[in-house]
Amino acid sequence: MSRLQFLESIGLVALATLLGLPIRTLLHPTNLVMLYMAAVVIAAFFLGRGPAMLASFLSVLAFDFFFVEPRLNFALADTEYLVTFNAFLAVGLIVSSLAGRVRLQVKALREREAQVEALNDFSRDLTAALSLDTILNDVIWHVSQTLGREIVVFLAQDAALERRAATPDFKLDESELAVARWSFENSQVAGLGTNAFPQSQIRFAPLKTLRGALGVLGVRPGTAGQVLTPVQGQQLEGFAYLAAMAIERALLAEQANRAQVLGEAEKLQTALLNSISHDLRTPLVSIQGVLDSLLEVEEGGENAVQLDQAARLDMLENAREETARLNRLVENLLDMTRLEAGTLKLRLEPGDLQDVIGSALAHLNDQFGSRPVSVTLVEGLPLIPMDFVLMEQVLVNLLDNAVKYSPPGSPIEVSVACQDNQALIRIADRGPGIPSAELEQIFSKFHRLNRPGQAKGVGLGLSICKGIVEAHSGRIWAEGRSGGGSVFTVALPLERATGKGREGRT
Ligand code: ADP
Repeated sequence: MSRLQFLESIGLVALATLLGLPIRTLLHPTNLVMLYMAAVVIAAFFLGRGPAMLASFLSVLAFDFFFVEPRLNFALADTEYLVTFNAFLAVGLIVSSLAGRVRLQVKALREREAQVEALNDFSRDLTAALSLDTILNDVIWHVSQTLGREIVVFLAQDAALERRAATPDFKLDESELAVARWSFENSQVAGLGTNAFPQSQIRFAPLKTLRGALGVLGVRPGTAGQVLTPVQGQQLEGFAYLAAMAIERALLAEQANRAQVLGEAEKLQTALLNSISHDLRTPLVSIQGVLDSLLEVEEGGENAVQLDQAARLDMLENAREETARLNRLVENLLDMTRLEAGTLKLRLEPGDLQDVIGSALAHLNDQFGSRPVSVTLVEGLPLIPMDFVLMEQVLVNLLDNAVKYSPPGSPIEVSVACQDNQALIRIADRGPGIPSAELEQIFSKFHRLNRPGQAKGVGLGLSICKGIVEAHSGRIWAEGRSGGGSVFTVALPLERATGKGREGRT
């Protein structure tokens, strides 16, 4: 309680006296006492108990001196005033004591209100924070702002405590670490001002949820010897509780994310196994069949069937087709693995689109059968930066799909156009087309349309095309075609994308 408050209480008594003097002749002196009573109540409420008591004593003296006959001295003509004085003093003291108590309650209420508000702010920020790092930053910021102290957060990592965040320059010694560990292991507050390790300079509160302790929150007062008030202690535990819930939420989200990534990897593995068991084995079995038959013929065994030249050629042709199919599949699986691992390297060199298209068509030559395949090119097409082998792979996949997903004998049209500094390669077929809701999804890994009797596949081809085209800073998309069928377009930049460091990417 400062000296100023006592001076103010003297001021209040002086003011009551000044107000009373002009009306002294109009009122009975006992009524003037009310002015002093008002001064005492005001002092009690605004200045505290001590100043209010001083005001009570001074009021009695001032009243006696200025208003009770004989005036201007402390003598009393009428001893009845003694009763007034005593009653006044008693009432003054009681009022001061009550008002003092009300003041303390108001102060406590304000503190509690501030405490609730700080926790609300903290909780609001935590709700918006998604990552563990943001949550830890929020914890450090809010707790240090509210308690005005240095803060440290430890989280459990493989049964050990790991320091995860702290206010700048926060240092701990071995003994303080041991207190942190004790608080974590026993899920109880420990350190400064508590029953466990009270001599420590840091107070630790466990970050615990229903599933157990996740770590500890430590607070060190700014100057040595400073303690945490009981209210601050409660506040610290409130912060620790909210922080623990938010940290648990972030950890669970991370876990779910990891599980999803693992799930994806598992899916890829299953697809690989499926391919190996089916798509890879089918061509191998027929190649082996061809080789076995031819060997038997060569060795002239008992069961050997005589084959004429044309039949042999037919078998060899078949084996070659199957080998090419096998090769394409293995190529796609390898590309997918490289894309997944981020190790697909582009060898960008100026390439002729006509050559790539020609090479891709040659690759699939045996599959077109009776289909008319047309190629339309624009005049004066410049060389464009590309990885020849990978781009050929894209076109092979798209042409392969056009064949797989359109009826035999229907035409396949390849065209190239230049537009907005891009080369547009279009591959159009007259198949069943693709529902507009799935035009984008077919480029996702393992996404296949659900069509009865559809050709076999694993759903990797288009996602690989997308990966390769995007690595070229290009775009790929599918559209419906008027008159039926679908068009796949690959847009490649005519010039090398600058500043992206695509070439030699690992
Ligand atoms: P896959 O051919 O191994 O199934 P893709 O990624 O190449 O895998 O293709 C994904 C799906 O997109 C295919 O399963 C098919 O349903 C559909 N699709 C691809 N190309 C065409 C096309 N030209 N016409 C109709 N549907 C197609």
